[in-house]
Amino acid sequence: MSTLLVTGGAGFIGSNFVRHVLALEPAAGVERVVVLDKLTYAGSLENLRDAETDPRFVFVHGDVADRDTVAAVFRDHRPTAVLNFAAESHVDRSIDDPSDFVETNVRGCFELLDAARRHLQRAGDSAREGFRFLHVSTDEVFGSLGETGAFVETTPYAPRSPYAASKAAADHLARAYFHTYGLPVVVTNCSNNYGPYQFPEKLIPLMTLNGAEGKDLPIYGDGTNVRDWLHVEDHCQGLWTVLERAPPGATYNLGGESERTNLQVVDALCDALEAARPAKDNPALAARGLASYRDLRRFVRDRPGHDQRYAIDPTAIRRDLGWRPRHDFESGVRSTVAWYLENGDWCAAVQSESSRDRLGLGGSRSESSRSQDSRLGNAGPGAADAEHPPAPDSAQKDHRGAAIDSREEGCGGGG
Ligand code: NAD
Repeated sequence: MSTLLVTGGAGFIGSNFVRHVLALEPAAGVERVVVLDKLTYAGSLENLRDAETDPRFVFVHGDVADRDTVAAVFRDHRPTAVLNFAAESHVDRSIDDPSDFVETNVRGCFELLDAARRHLQRAGDSAREGFRFLHVSTDEVFGSLGETGAFVETTPYAPRSPYAASKAAADHLARAYFHTYGLPVVVTNCSNNYGPYQFPEKLIPLMTLNGAEGKDLPIYGDGTNVRDWLHVEDHCQGLWTVLERAPPGATYNLGGESERTNLQVVDALCDALEAARPAKDNPALAARGLASYRDLRRFVRDRPGHDQRYAIDPTAIRRDLGWRPRHDFESGVRSTVAWYLENGDWCAAVQSESSRDRLGLGGSRSESSRSQDSRLGNAGPGAADAEHPPAPDSAQKDHRGAAIDSREEGCGGGG
């Protein structure tokens, strides 16, 4: 029987993972799921409403970078596995203010690793045998690809944004704890996720909601940046497979084998919106005299240092563990768009405290937004980009009113 400590379990992927493991057959042996989450702007108990009624679920409000908090969680719950999702995950925010990224992504990972090491020292060899520390990471650590090729597990790290650099640092620490202390660590590096419960600063939920409301769809640069897209349910299934079957010290790349330019993603979203809620019946578009969701697309100033292309070669995980994604991108996008359209209350609840200022142009966050964040117990203002995607901003503020000047003021784009 297992007790899973899921850090960042109130965020997008973490909450989907919690839902995934609580729905597994009893034979999976999930006895307890403890979520440790700071509830930053990106985390919400709204994401865990259905888990809250499960007697196996425990929520702890706390910071992974706080040693005493982490020690208390290990002491109180004696986890048999840690899944480290907790992170600052928005590239644009890391450009404006990297400090929270170093604190949570690097220091937080270190505190968890060290608490796990001390826990196993106390618990002895029998506890070490079944224990796993699964550190959830990203393909962004590998840097940017040209037109061909794909990242494999041995691709050298070459992070190019503060976010990617902080994740790379954490990956190195996690592997060092395996080699130095024998901590049973496994690391996964995954491509862009999409699906339900993603905070609407990221490409797919942002564009979906903007489109439905007849707002501009801001696309970074010329829209040719390429990302590989994986449905979050496939990611969760992959993580469970790795947790159960990967040996200590292993590392696996997970990807959806669905490379798309940002422009292709936005077009797929427009098509899915058209199928779900035809533009001719949408008063928000009619009010702007527009006949198609694609008419909402706007090219805006690119993100500084925007990586051109990421692609994952998932051969190793398929060969060793038999994992492969089940969702194809187009049907996954259709069901995701339907989910956001059907869950307006969730969208309103998680966005209620968020601003939509453009982020990621290299300016620091304003003191006023910081003090608001701190009053709310939040880590940052709302803006756009999925782990990689775009950002709303002045463009978004303008969606309801004046048209925006496309390249200078906008946001959004992806990846
Ligand atoms: P997210 O931003 O939606 O959620 C992050 C969660 O971590 C939130 O619940 C937040 O409250 C929590 N958190 C932040 N700082 C914390 C702290 N100091 N202590 C405790 N909790 C804290 O992120 P996500 O998209 O769900 O990503 C989860 C993990 O997966 C991250 O590590 C990210 O790097 C990785 N990843 C994401 C993607 C993607 O496309 N979203 C792709 C590959 C890897």
